[in-house]
Amino acid sequence: MSRENPHAGLAITDDDATIAAALEDVSIPTLMLSLVHMTGDASLIRGELKPQGLFLNEVQGYMSEDDKAAVRRIALGAIRAYRDGGCRLPAPPGPDLIREMMSWLVCEPVPDEYVPMMLEEMELDGADARRVAIDAGSSARAAFPVVVIGCGQSGLLAGIRLREAGIPFTIIEKNPDVGGTWFENSYPGCRVDVGNHFYCYSFEPSDQWTEYFARQPEIQSYFSDVMHRHGIERDIRWNTEVVSARWNDDSSSWQVAIRSADETEETLSARAVISAVGQLNRPNLPDIPGIETFAGPSFHSARWDHSVDYRAKRVAVVGAGASGFQIVPTIAPDVAALTVFQRTAQWMFPNPNYHEKVGPGVQWAMRHLPFYGRWYRFLLFWPGCDGGLAAARVDPEWPHQDRAVSATNDITRELFTAWITEQAGDDTELLAKVVPDYPATGKRTLQDNGSWLRALRRPNVELVREGIDHIDAHGLVTMSGVRHDVDIIVYATGFQANRFLWPMEIVGRDETVLSDQWGDEPSAYLGITVPNFPNLFCMYGPGTNLAHGGSLIFHSECQIRYITGCIKALLAGEHESMEPRPEVHDEYYARMQRELDGLVWSHPSIEHSWFKNKQGRIHVLSPWRLVDYWTWTRAPDLDDFVMRSASPPRRSASR
Ligand code: NAP
Repeated sequence: MSRENPHAGLAITDDDATIAAALEDVSIPTLMLSLVHMTGDASLIRGELKPQGLFLNEVQGYMSEDDKAAVRRIALGAIRAYRDGGCRLPAPPGPDLIREMMSWLVCEPVPDEYVPMMLEEMELDGADARRVAIDAGSSARAAFPVVVIGCGQSGLLAGIRLREAGIPFTIIEKNPDVGGTWFENSYPGCRVDVGNHFYCYSFEPSDQWTEYFARQPEIQSYFSDVMHRHGIERDIRWNTEVVSARWNDDSSSWQVAIRSADETEETLSARAVISAVGQLNRPNLPDIPGIETFAGPSFHSARWDHSVDYRAKRVAVVGAGASGFQIVPTIAPDVAALTVFQRTAQWMFPNPNYHEKVGPGVQWAMRHLPFYGRWYRFLLFWPGCDGGLAAARVDPEWPHQDRAVSATNDITRELFTAWITEQAGDDTELLAKVVPDYPATGKRTLQDNGSWLRALRRPNVELVREGIDHIDAHGLVTMSGVRHDVDIIVYATGFQANRFLWPMEIVGRDETVLSDQWGDEPSAYLGITVPNFPNLFCMYGPGTNLAHGGSLIFHSECQIRYITGCIKALLAGEHESMEPRPEVHDEYYARMQRELDGLVWSHPSIEHSWFKNKQGRIHVLSPWRLVDYWTWTRAPDLDDFVMRSASPPRRSASR
């Protein structure tokens, strides 16, 4: 195998002691698969040495210490021979062996339908199969400018793919830098909760992560590095907001009105608009009477005021979803007193590795051991791939719907409850407050290594599970009239997730206003295209948030491949525009709502959840298996669309 494969690793020149030290840190099952690549010897995975099970967020693998030591001894010999032989790789494993390696690593058969998706994700052949080439002539491509709204993970990805396809684009970003949510959320303790060796672009792996679940500055800097490596920054307008976008049927183009920080307004013309604004970018401040009267500093978690010194102060944190859950343990040791207002208790997934550092040996392995990083990516992906969806399904025959939606869900509830109970110790009052009263995984499940309850048990921390009646100059008063005087209030109260593309005004064909068409029920075919809005493509649009596993980056890669495929089809057919057929969209929407009705997130006992709109319906989540979404978005089926052409005459295309 040639070194041109970027995943084959750098040549190894380190001495034995350095290699042996590195092997102390690595994932042992992943190491064994790298050894198969290195030696061509499949018998390595056909003997007694094998993983005993697979769990989400695995670091070193589930093998006995003796077995791990045995593998390290074998590995040291094999790596030494590989190094001394000039780091020449034998022929790559054939498809059958790759299948065997996949199933061996995850301790269960990987069904046929998953293999192509996983192979694509892993890029063992070194090819980035999600990249779409557009072979239209350069003048046709040049005449197809695209505006991308937002430069978070999906907008940056859109820029990269458009650049590769030779399509001119401008990214409009309201912030001064890249990252979107990873730029805006700089609150203390902010970190990702999908393992970073998977939560990064499939074609841009990083061997630099210093923690398995990196903190915000490291993630933001990853996106910044990728942006510079691909030269995307020259096509980004920073500190600029899209005010409106209006479709012009005569020119088959979008007129995109933008406003920069100095209030200068301008209109860009684009043949297509890609919305990459995310779902969680407009803070939600609670509607609590008197909120504006508080005399001290107060701010939303996504607008953290770093000029405010919270040390030795009395702080209130209102809200304990994923954001509050990270803020509280981080600031608790430094504040004089911390009052946490939690309306609904949260289910937590035990993850002992949540704050774990990536050892230098892992970074070395990522750089040097052939395909180590690719197999580790698969190891992280697989346990969060579709198993969680099956577990979220409501079993109507299950008799105890008040506490769980199925037998599996009941077991999850027991496991999670045991995790909470063990940590609450003898504090029964606290335990009563922190065990949720709705089915497990019914809201966004949080990653926990014990830091949440450790923080709540501190003497300077109080958990309040009561509603807030009002706020005044000095603090907060609960429904039962208890005062909590504080110096600082932090609102970790989430986002206006159901208001997609808000507050922009998007006007499509025949003066249709998107916010009117959607109301409180935003929907898009495959979460990407919307009837009446030609050449408008959403990334992380309605119905695409993942509550059951995977990663939004995986989803974004699916979406941008589909979108680039749409642009390719428009240019190849010399079409002016495309939009989904209403009946295709409506059937998809109805099917999606049926699916969502049968999943735990719709459970009626869940009163408050950002997954639900005011009527309790869900429009933000995907109910689909990742493998299905991947299959559906590999390329657009043009029969799903109304394709319009300029001549003859513009309106002659079927509807
Ligand atoms: P959130 O999950 O919507 O949580 C908001 C919190 O504020 C909840 O505790 C909510 O209570 C409470 N709240 C809202 N309105 C309130 C009111 N009027 N009075 C009292 N309490 C109120 O928001 P978030 O924590 O910012 O997280 C949002 C999403 O962002 C997450 O689900 C996740 O997808 C993402 N996120 C990810 C990470 C990560 O990867 N590590 C970190 C942060 C956020 P109820 O529960 O009763 O509604």
